[in-house]
Amino acid sequence: MTDIKVYNGNQIGGCITVVSASAGKVMIDFGANLPGAEEADLTFDWEAERVDAVLFTHYHGDHIGRFKEIPRSVSVYMSRVTRQVMTTIAKYTKDAESLQILQDDTRVHEIRAAESFAVKDIRITPYMVDHSAYDACMYLLETPDKAILHTGDFRGHGHRGNKLIKMIETYICRHGKRKVDVLLIEGTMLSRLTEKVYSEADMLRDCIRLFEEHRYVFLICSSTNADTLATFYQAANRNGIKMFANPYVCEQISHFREAAAGYWEGRNRDRKPAGDYRGIYHFKYVYPYAPEKVLHTYGGLEKDVTQEEIMRREGFCIVIKADEAYKKWIERFRDLDPVVVYSMWEGYLKPEHKAYNEKYKEFLDSCDHVQYMHTSGHATAKLLAEVINAVEPAECIYPIHTENAKELEHLNIKEELRHRIRYEA
Ligand SMILES: [Zn+2]
Ligand SMILES: [Zn+2]
Repeated sequence: MTDIKVYNGNQIGGCITVVSASAGKVMIDFGANLPGAEEADLTFDWEAERVDAVLFTHYHGDHIGRFKEIPRSVSVYMSRVTRQVMTTIAKYTKDAESLQILQDDTRVHEIRAAESFAVKDIRITPYMVDHSAYDACMYLLETPDKAILHTGDFRGHGHRGNKLIKMIETYICRHGKRKVDVLLIEGTMLSRLTEKVYSEADMLRDCIRLFEEHRYVFLICSSTNADTLATFYQAANRNGIKMFANPYVCEQISHFREAAAGYWEGRNRDRKPAGDYRGIYHFKYVYPYAPEKVLHTYGGLEKDVTQEEIMRREGFCIVIKADEAYKKWIERFRDLDPVVVYSMWEGYLKPEHKAYNEKYKEFLDSCDHVQYMHTSGHATAKLLAEVINAVEPAECIYPIHTENAKELEHLNIKEELRHRIRYEA
């Protein structure tokens, strides 16, 4: 008899779900609470629960943040990019303990899209989805008596979002031949229903215009938000402008570039139906920021020009953080009247919000010319309804990862499915 336990389902941080079958027991995500949350992270009793494996949906802290606490005897499953991104973070923060775990091939198992594996009597299949993390996935868990779909975080308005419903119908539901009994669905946006949906495609269009008008752009965005980095990269590239970043960001970007190139070369053919993303995550012209560096050849013609000369002549998109240390970078180019683009969630800038970050606010206040452009990483109400209707769970639907679960009832879903919504698991 299958049992499902959702922890912290009524909040956005600290995502944890446990599924037990007769023999196997797996956890999906072991995340930390959001920064600024009042509640402490919940204490999980690993002794009593005896989990066999932990499956991570993606590399955001609210899903993977507590991975170090997992007992050494428990296997962990994550995508290759998740592992690489986490390794780079551990390397740059000098976190030896995390590094050691991530490099341990006997414990860390790399999942591949649409490739099933088993943990005792639970058959597990990950499916890659669009999100503000590169390789986010949904998990289908099939126990001897139930099929459970855990969506993780997802959206439909990123660079690869338009295939989601088709992917669910074709690969997960197999055009009605495979029945999903239980759907655990993220509902972050249920508390932000009034938020206007601004897609990566909208942002790309606006960014192209931005680079046409201002050739000097500092970009504040998450170093692991592959889609937004790609949007700015593409817009800059179309205007003949290069991207610069610190070595840490360059290393994160290299993971996205390599993974996307793999799709094309066929090394990751199993990742279907993700498609070909080589063009989007191209990232060929991204350089470590070093304005004083002398380039001995440039364009095969010029000799001994500095990076700064190139930047001033051609323009730049420099990725920074809203951190004191980067004020020097902006100062250096102040005479060019650069634009600082803030492409992160605006909640961090609002004092009334729990996650308010005073440092960010002060940083932006100190800049002359700021623009706000950001796409949400989460599914809109409309898409949540489409997913529920497409999955058509036979038994029940649990909203998770939301502060406004009740809103799910008001979505445009089939009447019989509305009666299958449950709030306690
Ligand atoms: Zn996420
Ligand atoms: Zn999340």
